[in-house]
Amino acid sequence: MDLRQGIGLRRLGTTADEFQQDLLSSLYYRRGTTVESASPRDAYEALALTVRDRLAERRARTAAAHFASNPRWVYYLSAEYLLGAQLEQNLLYSGTGELASQSLKVLGRTLEEIEDLDVEPGLGNGGLGRLAACLVDAMATRDIPAVGYGIRYDFGIFRQSLEGGAQAERPDDWAFQGNPWEFPAPDDRQTVGFYGHTEPVPGSPTRKSWVPGEIVLGEPSHMLVPGYRTETVNIVRLWRARGSEASFDLSRFSAGQYAEAVQEAVRAENISKVLYPDDSTELGRELRLKQQYFLVSCSLRDIIRRFRLRNEGWDDFAEKTVIQLNDTHPTIAIPELMRLLVDEYGLDWDKAWSITRSTFAYTCHTLLPEALETWPVPLFERLLPRHLEIIYLINMFFLREVEARFPGDSDRLRRMSIIGEGSERRVRMAHLAVVGTEAVNGVAELHSKLLRETVLQDFADLWPAKFQNVTNGVSPRRFMKLANPRLSDLITEGLGDDGWLNDLDRLAGLERLAGDASFMERWRAVKRANKVDLAAGDPDSLTDVMIKRFHEYKRQQLKLLHVITMYHRIRANPAGDWVPRTVLFAGKAAPAYHAAKNIIRLINAVGATIAADPVVAPHLRVVFAENYNVTLAERIIPAADLSEQISLAGKEASGTGNMKLALNGAITIGTLDGANIEIRARVGEENFFLFGLDAFQAAEVQISGYHPREHYDRDAELKAAIDAITAGTFGGVGREVADSLLGWDEYLTLADYRSYLDCQEEVERAWRDPERWTRLSILNTAHSGFFSADRTIADYAARIWRVAPVPVPKDI
Ligand SMILES: *Cc1c(COP(=O)(O)O)cnc(C)c1O
Repeated sequence: MDLRQGIGLRRLGTTADEFQQDLLSSLYYRRGTTVESASPRDAYEALALTVRDRLAERRARTAAAHFASNPRWVYYLSAEYLLGAQLEQNLLYSGTGELASQSLKVLGRTLEEIEDLDVEPGLGNGGLGRLAACLVDAMATRDIPAVGYGIRYDFGIFRQSLEGGAQAERPDDWAFQGNPWEFPAPDDRQTVGFYGHTEPVPGSPTRKSWVPGEIVLGEPSHMLVPGYRTETVNIVRLWRARGSEASFDLSRFSAGQYAEAVQEAVRAENISKVLYPDDSTELGRELRLKQQYFLVSCSLRDIIRRFRLRNEGWDDFAEKTVIQLNDTHPTIAIPELMRLLVDEYGLDWDKAWSITRSTFAYTCHTLLPEALETWPVPLFERLLPRHLEIIYLINMFFLREVEARFPGDSDRLRRMSIIGEGSERRVRMAHLAVVGTEAVNGVAELHSKLLRETVLQDFADLWPAKFQNVTNGVSPRRFMKLANPRLSDLITEGLGDDGWLNDLDRLAGLERLAGDASFMERWRAVKRANKVDLAAGDPDSLTDVMIKRFHEYKRQQLKLLHVITMYHRIRANPAGDWVPRTVLFAGKAAPAYHAAKNIIRLINAVGATIAADPVVAPHLRVVFAENYNVTLAERIIPAADLSEQISLAGKEASGTGNMKLALNGAITIGTLDGANIEIRARVGEENFFLFGLDAFQAAEVQISGYHPREHYDRDAELKAAIDAITAGTFGGVGREVADSLLGWDEYLTLADYRSYLDCQEEVERAWRDPERWTRLSILNTAHSGFFSADRTIADYAARIWRVAPVPVPKDI
């Protein structure tokens, strides 16, 4: 099959001349302007379209190859994608960076200037959304036929700024100027129902017909997801809610009732209006549940449509389809597929259940009880009446299975039920997700173990083989090659070629260079140049970074107590031989999370006090970088010396920031939590700064009765640090933070304080020996190859999805 002949597809040029011609064509024919009058925006759009064309041609070939092979598909359902900026990525993945740079000269522009116009789609909160982006990148790179499904929020994660040291939030209208990377696909529009009631279907005990009370349209568009050094280009398909034609009330409009006329359409469009900016607690809003069902309903119909392109009947559906649920947010897909199969396609219950169960797999992302999603039964009943009925049936059959295995164990039945019977009846989404899937995985060894032994223990008793671990990973393309070109070039030189970007274990070859004086010298020079670029502080100071969402369990407050203690020590001994440090914080707090916002304020107050103190300022500087996002992460990570991964052990599922930093040669100071444990095991105990309680000890402390005041009373430096806050040393800011630390200190900050401070002294000893530090840094990079998202995807493909790559030929 020659696709280009078949549909007349022209292979795009690869020379500078051809590229420039295409750029000018884009400018004239697609922007409708000329070289003379092109604005920077015109130049940006024309370049984006020219680059996009190159990927689109690969996309067409990918689609043809996938269609021809009718493979088993992976569908990744995620409420969030934190894709990062697209232009630089797509230049790299299409190999057109140099051509673009050259060609832009004809427009009198530089690539750097144009790249500044590329806005990152902030369709995620943090780790979970960025993981989704890294995984789709790796799926394409590994030639796995896959589609990522998500929501095209009009407003992504809020923009953070500091006002008087406090977090202020502004809406993120990310596509305000348009988004050249997006392909609208209105033909694949779907219809989604909400509310209403169900009616029996005569002659069938399980079938029902649902009569929704509200109808909303889901309009898809997709972004291209190219693989690196392969032909595959997959897509992420994003749904946007629209009112139907009928939702506009022309007669009211004509009568001058403008607001009433569009009321229904506005209500519909609100579904994809904004990303909920909280990544760790469930706020249980109706609109959130609507978002979830909207995503699921549109995506499942699209999946079935795609299945029907090459297959008939239902016998092969589970064979050809695996749907990965990224956390519980898309879990309503389980009852929705049951509804489609039973009610709409007339399959009997058992057959439908067998298909459903073998189609889905579920990734759990948390251990925090407050993050485990549940929904009040009455809300579910009102919004999705048929789904609730189906959940009741699923639960009934499930509890029978439990009863058969553990007869008479009514406690167990109560614990495992999908419906929680507390003061209020609630649907437990994690239970539904475990019951309705073939595989359940945690995202790091410790996390998977704790899931099996605590949160989901009853389920692991019942189905031990269902539970797996797939340790997270990150894209080496984005977080090394794009973020850190200097280090990438040096590594390529050291290893002889750049094959490591697709085979990250090859970084191990750097080990033999960890003692090579000239290589070490250049390694240091790269780090220094990256620090100069970042311009956050003295490039010769120890750049100590804590960049992640603000959450009490992550313990930015512990880092802050260290900073305050350093401040006291330096003031007490100004002539001491202090290691100069720049402590860099970045991260957003959920707008309603007051405790986290108080910590941000306190950090800035402490930072201001230190900056104004001529004794301390030369040695210690606190910087808060506003509006942490992928673009900012890409700037900070290459400049980091020390990576702060100091969550209370047993609370961080995996972390991925820890991996990005280790790969870029930052050395971790961390607890035995999440993937820190695996990082330490790989880079070596002597190349990792470990402190604090482990998960088991932390649980013991909490069970035996924790009294933070005992630590405060016993430790003079700790007491001084907290007293300074309450005494108003930092302008009276942060008293609530101090109160919570002394009052209950949910995350054992005070219990780990002394161990953390001692460990920081070890850090400084290592830092004072530049040879040693550089060796640590090189070894961290050398032994972090495991944390490539390509390895993560290989694990999913082999152990959970059972899918094989489908390479895309260069010529079809
Ligand atoms: C990697 C990343 C995260 C996750 O960081 P953790 O330290 O694992 O919590 C969050 N936000 C952004 C923008 C990231 O790039």
